[in-house]
Amino acid sequence: MWRIIYHQAEGSFEKVSGDIQPLQAPNIRIKPDYIGVCGSDKSILSGKRKVYNGLVMGHEITGKILEGHGLDLAGDHLGEGDRIVVLPNYYCGECEDCRHGHYNTCKNKVSIGVNAQGAMQEFFDVDPKFTIRVDNRIDPEIAPLIEPIAVAVHAIRKFTSRDRRLIIIGGGSVGISSYITARYLGFNDVRIVEKIERKVSELREHVDSVYGSLEEAIGYSTDPVCVLDTVGSAETISEIEHLSEMVASGSEFVINGLESQEYAMHQAYLVRREMTLHGSIIYIPNDFVMAREILYNNVDALAKTVAVADAQRIVGELRSRILNSADIKLVLKI
Ligand SMILES: [Zn+2]
Ligand SMILES: [Zn+2]
Repeated sequence: MWRIIYHQAEGSFEKVSGDIQPLQAPNIRIKPDYIGVCGSDKSILSGKRKVYNGLVMGHEITGKILEGHGLDLAGDHLGEGDRIVVLPNYYCGECEDCRHGHYNTCKNKVSIGVNAQGAMQEFFDVDPKFTIRVDNRIDPEIAPLIEPIAVAVHAIRKFTSRDRRLIIIGGGSVGISSYITARYLGFNDVRIVEKIERKVSELREHVDSVYGSLEEAIGYSTDPVCVLDTVGSAETISEIEHLSEMVASGSEFVINGLESQEYAMHQAYLVRREMTLHGSIIYIPNDFVMAREILYNNVDALAKTVAVADAQRIVGELRSRILNSADIKLVLKI
């Protein structure tokens, strides 16, 4: 069987071949066919995030079952020929966090494609409890989007009120899937803030309410707002600090982007004006079930955001293709 490995020291991908291992219970064996690329992959390729040499990347995975059967994370039966999407952050189910249902913060979490072998390979074995079945009629190119949509579902579910204006910081694929998710979950007034002008005009083809700055997106509103930061950079964090002085009391903030910034909110704003700040990291299995429903109901809108490249054909240029991608969502055919 073949696999595409990434040598971080050299900054290059290589296609290698190896032996097929026998399938181990309770795993199922899939043939991965499409893999979504996201900011985490870019941070590995840019060297920001350190990984071991020889990593097989690919964590937003869809494929068809070649061998094995079992129950998926929704409790549905899986068998040969079924299409599945993988929940790529394996949790142990036994640590304190898992026992409280906080599978997303599992102390023994294994993130495939990041600190364990991902799916840029001919076959991929996975425990069916970390998969969700997807209707075979769904275009396989968009199926991997269930994973980033699940991230958005988890974040947006943190807000306690859906009657408020929701402002999403960042207009990348996460921003767009957050927009679609928020609309689906009942937010009527959703605005995206994107500062890069080139991106703004492209975004306007997908969503109606794109703003160049947070101030513009807030406008003259004196009502409490919901703010979702999908970027989490030094710049957006300091904007949120500033925003906590500007927006109405009782506003809520969810931080989803993850870098390593210090966050400082003056006690006077947090306490006297009762602001709420939530962190949100990936998802729990339930979020995947909702994400699948959102995908099913937004197939056309999501399809327009996807560009496909054939990974095996461009192994030599794969790194630059991913890093320089101007597509909203790059999906690799495996
Ligand atoms: Zn991802
Ligand atoms: Zn755990």
